[in-house]
Amino acid sequence: MAWYRCTLCGAEYSAAETHYLCPLCGQDWHPGQPLKGVLETVYDYEAIGRQFDPQNPDWSLFSPLDASWFPAFPVGKTPLFRSDYFSQNGLDVWIKNDGLNPSGSLKDRASILMVAEARRLGLQEIVCASTGNAASALAACCAAAQITATIFVPASAPRAKRIQMKLCGANVIEVDGDYDAAFDASIQYTKQYGTLNRNTAYHPLTIEGKKTVALEIYAQLGQRVPDFIFVPVGDGVIISAVFKGFLDLLRAQLIQRLPHLVCVQAEGSDAIAQFLESGEFHAVAQPSTIADSISVKVPSNAYLARDAVVQTRGFSVRVSDKAILAAQRELAAKTGVFGEPAAAAAVAGFDVVKEKLPAGSSCVLLITGHGLKDIDAAANALI
Ligand SMILES: [Zn+2]
Repeated sequence: MAWYRCTLCGAEYSAAETHYLCPLCGQDWHPGQPLKGVLETVYDYEAIGRQFDPQNPDWSLFSPLDASWFPAFPVGKTPLFRSDYFSQNGLDVWIKNDGLNPSGSLKDRASILMVAEARRLGLQEIVCASTGNAASALAACCAAAQITATIFVPASAPRAKRIQMKLCGANVIEVDGDYDAAFDASIQYTKQYGTLNRNTAYHPLTIEGKKTVALEIYAQLGQRVPDFIFVPVGDGVIISAVFKGFLDLLRAQLIQRLPHLVCVQAEGSDAIAQFLESGEFHAVAQPSTIADSISVKVPSNAYLARDAVVQTRGFSVRVSDKAILAAQRELAAKTGVFGEPAAAAAVAGFDVVKEKLPAGSSCVLLITGHGLKDIDAAANALI
């Protein structure tokens, strides 16, 4: 049993009442601003705490949908391993390789839950806007369930991602503009045709799906909470989802503390880092970074991302494109993991602060997408 609660006003809704933003707070939202009235999925945490057996954990207690709605398309359960190379100076460093999801990115976690939701609602089409990874994830998950994916994508999205989504049978509509323009176009389409919209954070289950990465990190560390998790941040949804996963564990009284979440942003796309520092939100007029997956003018989930860092007593780090490419090469050459530039940003962020972290700290570097997603960017790392 799960329902929705507005992260702004606290109003509660059933999944039958609403799918998207809080009907009250969402009225104040206009395209070009971070989303307002984003809903969170909440559970009867007392019941979960009673039912959860640490010796024989049932993670489905933290899922809003019954397993019967999911297509046969395994997502998640990606490897977490300790890196000897990065575990220097008394640190204990783990790599969570989410590039090994079926479509090559963490976004599969959100898309598979959205496909399950579409099946529950009896809908045959899901629409989304994406710079690439969410779209190719949706295309793959929809193909597995044989429902239609309609995708608005900026013309600048990397070629491999566009080919991937088309090959999976999606309707791909290239938008002459950036992610924000694609986002607006997808909302108009949803209003016109009544399909299910998968835009990140706009639909609360996108956050809920991605939260599974946090549950897995906890489980794979032997039901321990790491001290720091380094998360690449663009629109702010993944870091909010990592926060939500650990918050659910805390609410069910299975853990006593939260990990410090480190928001790693590209220097040229740092709206959330600026928001954390100044307390005031400003869009980045011209985002510019080689890490396309985290290049965002207006982060849709800026408010929750800020909460995630503040409430976990985390911090933000900015990294240059040069540092991202160096980290991409370092990660590949020293661990064998080929991450895309956005994923390598987590490693670059770790490299910036590693000497300041307390000895004995356990750190997780979240690798959010596979390097083959953007081979042209990777070629720059060889120069
Ligand atoms: Zn509200």
